[in-house]
Amino acid sequence: MKKTIRDYDLFGKKVIIRVDFNVPIKDNNILDDNRIVMSLDTIKYAIEKGAKVILMSHLGRIKEQSDCNKNSLKIVSERLEQLLNKKVIFINTTRGKELEDAVSNLKNGEVLLMENTRFEDLNGKLESGNDDDLAKYWASLGDIFINDAFGTCHRSHASNVGISSHLDNGIGFLVEKELNSFKLLDNPKRPYTVILGGAKVSDKIGVIENLCKVCDYILVGGGMAYTFLQALSYNIGKSIVDEESIDFCKKMLNNYKDKIILPTDSITSKTIGMNPVLKNNDNFDSDDIGLDIGEKSIEHFIDILKDSNTIVWNGPLGYYENDIYANGTKSILNYLKDSDKIVIIGGGDTAAAAINFGYENAFTHISTGGGASLELLEGKELPGIKIIDEKE
Ligand code: AMP
Repeated sequence: MKKTIRDYDLFGKKVIIRVDFNVPIKDNNILDDNRIVMSLDTIKYAIEKGAKVILMSHLGRIKEQSDCNKNSLKIVSERLEQLLNKKVIFINTTRGKELEDAVSNLKNGEVLLMENTRFEDLNGKLESGNDDDLAKYWASLGDIFINDAFGTCHRSHASNVGISSHLDNGIGFLVEKELNSFKLLDNPKRPYTVILGGAKVSDKIGVIENLCKVCDYILVGGGMAYTFLQALSYNIGKSIVDEESIDFCKKMLNNYKDKIILPTDSITSKTIGMNPVLKNNDNFDSDDIGLDIGEKSIEHFIDILKDSNTIVWNGPLGYYENDIYANGTKSILNYLKDSDKIVIIGGGDTAAAAINFGYENAFTHISTGGGASLELLEGKELPGIKIIDEKE
């Protein structure tokens, strides 16, 4: 068991909390503050316990100086201030005297947010390359380090893995909840069914290989279904296909023919967004694009889900961003909502679809981290977690 924020006496301590404030921003507006909201439990706990709270986060990618203006955390500090109903001291730099003085002057229960950790990537990828001098420097600002940024736990950066190796450390409530939820899959209540969708097979080869070994059924939808159907020699028209993954799909279909369930029909269009037509697998024209699973496939998927007790879902079942092709994803979400089954929604697009369609609180768990949740499903250990101290 990993140490958590509860394992430390925080009173009067400088507690660095690595949060994930990587929110979408357009024209200086935060489009979705969910990630800030999700970090509040840990931040409020540290405040209540009398810690001097130092927050660090990345925002976007920083490749050149001009990326800095649009990726400043200043606007996030203002939103955080509203959500906490409390002053947040924003320091517009990632190192130096101003930051050090502000940290030294912090009083118990005060909150400071440092500028975007990735500003350090401008001088040779110091943050993303986990530069040890930078990690030591940031660690020198605090007494305890808490990692609550699940979305970056699959990365080895100075602001997570780096600082952890130089300070007493633990995980925050958000990371703890994520890990506990994925732990339910270690010993799943069977039947255990995986729903896999999304654009490409090649992005999820590790996930498919790992989950095929342990699950009872794997329901394949979305763009990736057409590579599987191509592997079975169906005419898939102009649907998205991963040529380089066809042999892999053939191998999987051979090894797991009773587990892998493919769609039998699709909503197709000849031009995306125009004239949707329902077609069976053996009915595609050479210019048809498969963009959603069809009615029969939805029914068949639901039949299998009815008998399942544990369900994990990664990847939308169609091009759900366009409402014409969202029915498969919506129907399955709707079937699974509020059920007494264990339902874990992997991060990224599936989580976005679940939240956008109004199912935010309808499942056992919706993961906040796309890449990190995929790596957990691949059976990998996340570097940001591995480095955290074990409880004695
Ligand atoms: P991923 O990040 O791999 O989970 O892929 C998510 C993306 O796959 C979303 O943007 C979906 O719109 C897209 N997608 C799902 N089904 C299809 C499809 N049949 N054709 C093209 N794109 C799709």
